[in-house]
Amino acid sequence: MAEQFQLNLSHELAERIRRHGAETFPHECCGALLGRDSAFEDRAGGPSREVIELFPLINRRDDSPRNRFAVTAEDVLEAEKTARQQGLDVVGWYHSHPDHPARPSQFDREHAWPWYSYVIVSVLSGTPADMTSWRLNDDRQDYSPERIEIGNRAAV
Ligand SMILES: [Zn+2]
Repeated sequence: MAEQFQLNLSHELAERIRRHGAETFPHECCGALLGRDSAFEDRAGGPSREVIELFPLINRRDDSPRNRFAVTAEDVLEAEKTARQQGLDVVGWYHSHPDHPARPSQFDREHAWPWYSYVIVSVLSGTPADMTSWRLNDDRQDYSPERIEIGNRAAV
């Protein structure tokens, strides 16, 4: 088993992700996680990163917005531009699973890239429930769970 990844998230940002999922229900919400990867500064244990800001995206897939989260190339460019303007990086992506568990689907795995954090919030009957985070393994065969640490650091 590889090192345990950790994602640091403020209460406010966690709430905003949950709220976005509730707002778009029964459709998926999605967005970018802007922050800093502090892997080189973390002496406590495994690699960790911090989310500082969110960049909500419009789910452009109109064929099946209920269960098909997809980020387009334009989304990536725009998220990266917004991150750079704030001196941040795109460290991951979030989306919701309406009436489904907060676990990556087969579709998620096939459309994910290694390195990024993938936050998934389950929204059950319009009410936000579990929130999890994952990283795709380098061989792209599976995800590793990433621990979400909420609110132990002040946002910059
Ligand atoms: Zn998904």
